Amino acid sequence: MFELPPFRKCPKCKKERFGTLSVDDNTVTKRCADCRYSHDEILPHVDKRVVYLDQFAVSELYKTKEGKRRLGAPSATFWQRCYELADLAYKRQQVIFPASNLHSDETIVWHSPSELRLAHEMFSGETFFDRTDEIATNQEWEFAEAYIRGSGPPTLTFNVDDILSGDRNDWLPVYHISVDSDYSIFAPGLRRDRSVAETSLKSLAEGWAKNRPTFDQILKHELSSYGSAMREALRDQVAKTQEAMASDDPSSVLELRFGLMNRYRQLAAMFVHRGVPPQDAFNEVSKFLDWPGNQEQPAHKIFAYLIAALGWRVSSGQSPNIGAGILNDFTAIATYAPFVDAMFVDRQCASLLQQGRLRSELSFKARIFSMSNQQEFLDYLKQLGDSATDEVRQLANELYGAER
Ligand SMILES: [Zn+2]
Repeated sequence: MFELPPFRKCPKCKKERFGTLSVDDNTVTKRCADCRYSHDEILPHVDKRVVYLDQFAVSELYKTKEGKRRLGAPSATFWQRCYELADLAYKRQQVIFPASNLHSDETIVWHSPSELRLAHEMFSGETFFDRTDEIATNQEWEFAEAYIRGSGPPTLTFNVDDILSGDRNDWLPVYHISVDSDYSIFAPGLRRDRSVAETSLKSLAEGWAKNRPTFDQILKHELSSYGSAMREALRDQVAKTQEAMASDDPSSVLELRFGLMNRYRQLAAMFVHRGVPPQDAFNEVSKFLDWPGNQEQPAHKIFAYLIAALGWRVSSGQSPNIGAGILNDFTAIATYAPFVDAMFVDRQCASLLQQGRLRSELSFKARIFSMSNQQEFLDYLKQLGDSATDEVRQLANELYGAER
């Protein structure tokens, strides 16, 4: 490492060579490039907002940064302004846009992995969200504890720091070190999962178009299918595992994921720990899965409402866009919306959330933005940047060249 400008007068040798060596947590280390005298200075406490950007927004912002958007491309002015405001608020330590497993899933399928990884790390503040399936598993676990106690559905708390790796309020490092993990090994499996998801969504949509269910019918069905959906997914994973083990194809074994099987093995172990005889554990887990209380699980509930809103559109003769990507968007909203301050999502998803029942019956923390309310998003980002104190602004200029 070496000292970065601006250079001030060294307290020891008095030469104008005293620069920034590093920033770590809430401490900046300064060192003289001449006499090597150094000391630490404590940085003020900050309280950063957390915003989820979908894959589309991340990639537009990255292209804008790299000057890779073609001239006159749609919404060029918006993305340029968006990049500037996000960058300023980010360097002023007012906001982070953590990376998510939903990003890396799409990254592998649609883009060059190394470049998109840089894109996701661009504004991440060295943090990333816990996996969406982990967050859902934790919610399930808390509901299982309540079920065993014989109490009603628990009231969960939504502290964003509980679902983030890395420290939200650390000052940004002056050097960003990219974590060079290789996601590509999972790509074939992901492609298959996506096509499976797309096929099942299409057949669901055909059913809606044919049977014309009401919003309420779809919602009731989705909410109450927690147990049956889980059992089906579990059966599917067990079948795939047996198939792969029986085949001579090593790559199909490599592609296996045991997530769901491990999840229920652990849940069964928890039931045993709470006094259920081991031979009854899986049975009890299965009974718990059908517990009506599960309808209140936050991620499950929000997802069900989104499906119902989508289904209602199909049922009433509209043709919403039903690609597999929409399930990713639904998962993002269902999982993160109770925790984060704001989300930038697909326009169609944002409009589904505007539907009456969703507006009146779902409550979550996040403000929702999309291409439909561009100016509001710009205003929001500007307000974040403006909320920095004078001291923080000055430090942001000195350490990161925020207003350069
Ligand atoms: Zn010196």
